[in-house]
Amino acid sequence: MLQDKSRKQLASIKPYVPGKPIEEVQRELGISDVVKLASNENPLGPSLQAQKALQDFIRQAHIYPDGGCTSLKHALSGRWGLDPGCFIVGNGSDELFKLAAEAFLEPGDEVVTADPTFSEYEFAAKLMGAEVTKIPLKNYKHDLPAMAGAVQPNTKAVFVCNPNNPTGTCVTSDEFYSFLQRVPRDVLVVVDEAYKEYVRRPDYPDTLSYLGDYGNVLVTRTFSKVHGLAALRIGYGMADAELISILEKTREPFNVNGAAQAAATAAIGDEDHVERSIDVNEGGKQFLYEAFAALDLEYVPTDANFVLLHVGTSAERLFHEMLRFGVIVRSAHVFGLPEHLRITVGTEDQNRRLIAVLKEVIDH
Ligand SMILES: *Cc1c(COP(=O)(O)O)cnc(C)c1O
Repeated sequence: MLQDKSRKQLASIKPYVPGKPIEEVQRELGISDVVKLASNENPLGPSLQAQKALQDFIRQAHIYPDGGCTSLKHALSGRWGLDPGCFIVGNGSDELFKLAAEAFLEPGDEVVTADPTFSEYEFAAKLMGAEVTKIPLKNYKHDLPAMAGAVQPNTKAVFVCNPNNPTGTCVTSDEFYSFLQRVPRDVLVVVDEAYKEYVRRPDYPDTLSYLGDYGNVLVTRTFSKVHGLAALRIGYGMADAELISILEKTREPFNVNGAAQAAATAAIGDEDHVERSIDVNEGGKQFLYEAFAALDLEYVPTDANFVLLHVGTSAERLFHEMLRFGVIVRSAHVFGLPEHLRITVGTEDQNRRLIAVLKEVIDH
């Protein structure tokens, strides 16, 4: 049977199960004001400049996109002070993890990740037949010394999610530097900074400053979070130009669509929107912290735009109960945390609604 002939690496991979689309929940409940705080999207939406760029783009939809993302790389180069040759753009940063895996991993290779962390690293590794060594978090944080210690001769890559999803915690500059000293220079270090813009702490690692000296570091960022462009699927990687040129070999010619490129290029220039988004997030965090404390619920202080909340009961059950009230959150049981919810910080109204519903369901 054909089914028996699929690559054996696929045996350990389960298809990704997406969350319920908001429209489906609206239809099932017969209400329109459903609040989705499950995927760490920007509650303010995309910047107006990005929206305008999208509208202008429509008239060119018949033209193939710029396969080299020239305008965007130019804007990114200006923003981050790196040569345009130090960037690679992906169909979401998810694609970049896959390109890195395709470029470096073979069956028998090892990859080191934290546990729990973002699931895409493991997916990309397994797809290429590599084994994944998962190092438990310590106090909800990456245990970088243990991760460096887990590097074997056959280890090809280490993934560091900073801030980490689903815990919202960061490794510090000192911790990251010591880690980088210990990891051999022929091991790829991927630092996923999807939530970087939200981080307020001064000891957050300045990873870009290492790219010149450490040709094995790839830093990824995304337009899906603070820039509010998740539906368009666009993210970017930064590394030494030689590493970028290897990753470029695995990239499809037109991997990033034109609408995404146009919107992202405009979004990079809209620093006001980023600042506003960060302000809303900071205010929302404080509101949620106080509300959680008033409910006697423990949470992990976050450096991102979501909070991991300990509910002390089945998170999956709470998720379903909250859904009935039109509030969608993420049960962290998929991350091996069966008594935690991961909740995106929303607007003031959304946060109030969340707390009201949480109060309803937590007592039952
Ligand atoms: C949301 C998220 C991303 C972004 O993925 P895209 O493919 O760029 O949308 C990357 N890493 C982490 C940890 C995330 O939570």
